[in-house]
Amino acid sequence: MQSMKTGVLAAALALAACATPTPQGGVDRMYVINCGENHVKDVSRWTPGVNVGKPHVFSNHCYLIKHAKGWMLWDTGNADRLAAMPNGFSTAGGAITAYMKKPLAESLKEIGVAPADIKHFAMSHAHGDHSGNANLFTGATLYIQRAEYAAMFGPEAQKFGFIAANYEQLRNNPAMIVDGDYDVFGDGTVMVKAAPGHTPGHQVLVVRLPKTGPVMLSGDMVHLQYSWNYRIAPSFNFDVQQSMRTIDTMKDYAQKTNTQLWINHDLEQNAKIQKAPQWVQ
Ligand SMILES: [Zn+2]
Repeated sequence: MQSMKTGVLAAALALAACATPTPQGGVDRMYVINCGENHVKDVSRWTPGVNVGKPHVFSNHCYLIKHAKGWMLWDTGNADRLAAMPNGFSTAGGAITAYMKKPLAESLKEIGVAPADIKHFAMSHAHGDHSGNANLFTGATLYIQRAEYAAMFGPEAQKFGFIAANYEQLRNNPAMIVDGDYDVFGDGTVMVKAAPGHTPGHQVLVVRLPKTGPVMLSGDMVHLQYSWNYRIAPSFNFDVQQSMRTIDTMKDYAQKTNTQLWINHDLEQNAKIQKAPQWVQ
């Protein structure tokens, strides 16, 4: 009797499992981490001809992805050392003041993840507000475009606006150096996509969230929603024409695949997104 009851129960459970399959593998969740703020005197430096002379606050984020095969971090924000400067760090001749209210190391700790737990690591590009804490992740495989790798570790890193000290310790990391797109976990749920223009090997990340669906993490492909809508690229980009072509290519991709664009530096858009230690699914 007991065994028959168990058998019926097992059959019922199997049926229930068929009706509502438990997701196996893939991306479980993503933490959107506040990784500083950059206050600027004139936003039109990033949006030529638009909002000339207007001050602006750019948000800055890091993204921690929990995949069945391990943790992946995308971008590392402003340097944690700026947290010791409550009045911020003034740069670009006073045009930008950079803040880091809560160090990335502290945010990770709050989530319960140590830097050494993160085995997969990529940055959109190597500018200081994305590579500020890169040196924390020497134990991870680095996913990077060949052109960015060459610029970062070549003799003229500063020519590209990079501060080599930010990421110098990644030199010996295992690296997946690619030209184009790369499927990080081999299941299509986390894709690095080449998006050059802002820097020689700039890239974006497409993450297939279990409930939200596919989300593209912008890096600096565009800085603001209106840059995306109206196809605006800063004149200081490595290649402005290539930046425009990248916007066109990614708009086409996003439309065809129903992918949302989450813009790292758009404070207004990010106000609507759940932040760590909560997560998005
Ligand atoms: Zn940048």
